[in-house]
Amino acid sequence: MEAAKLEILITKIADTIIAHADELTSLDQAIGDGDHGLNMKRGFEAVRSEAAALSAKPLGEALKAAGTKLVMTVGGASGPLYGTLFMALGKALPDNPGRADYAAAARAAIDAVAMRGKSQAGQKTLLDVLEPALAAFNAGASLSMVADAADTAAAGTIPMLAIRGRASFLGERSVGHMDPGARSAALIIRAVAQTLEPGT
Ligand code: ADP
Ligand code: MG
Repeated sequence: MEAAKLEILITKIADTIIAHADELTSLDQAIGDGDHGLNMKRGFEAVRSEAAALSAKPLGEALKAAGTKLVMTVGGASGPLYGTLFMALGKALPDNPGRADYAAAARAAIDAVAMRGKSQAGQKTLLDVLEPALAAFNAGASLSMVADAADTAAAGTIPMLAIRGRASFLGERSVGHMDPGARSAALIIRAVAQTLEPGT
């Protein structure tokens, strides 16, 4: 990916998360401790402030560096998980990736998040968006369709019972609310689609 395009992509992801910080906070107030919006905003402000320097690196190195930055700045449970996601993506991507390379890297990155969180899809976490989004991508969907699948999957966490993370402490009371991490994951995927597939 060209540096200019990568910088637009990084900035778009960061802008999207920052613009939705209050919404992510409200979601986390319902079933967590109300810090997801602030955590993500802090992390993506740090990434955005380095967007130019990050984009000067090859794609894999840029993603690894962004992931490291997120681990250092986001905090909470989501910091290490999103950090792992971006670092693992960066590690797995070749310099000039094609569709199959993106799919393989996403598979490796989701597995790394699952290992880090000792979690899997079905437990009301960001994995419940990442897995169906990858499934849509693997089925040949356009990025805007992948983003639609991610939105649907985020809404699909509303009736789920939380088995991992802070929301799991609520037991049955976690049911009826969207998982904040699922929502932030869907926002990131939409931002990627809007940047790489204009008109989305
Ligand atoms: P914290 O829960 O420490 O306050 P955040 O509020 O920033 O951290 O992030 C909460 C989100 O992190 C949850 O909505 C969920 O999607 C995700 N999450 C938490 N624990 C796990 C886990 N073990 N595996 C996968 N995702 C998790
Ligand atoms: Mg929280």
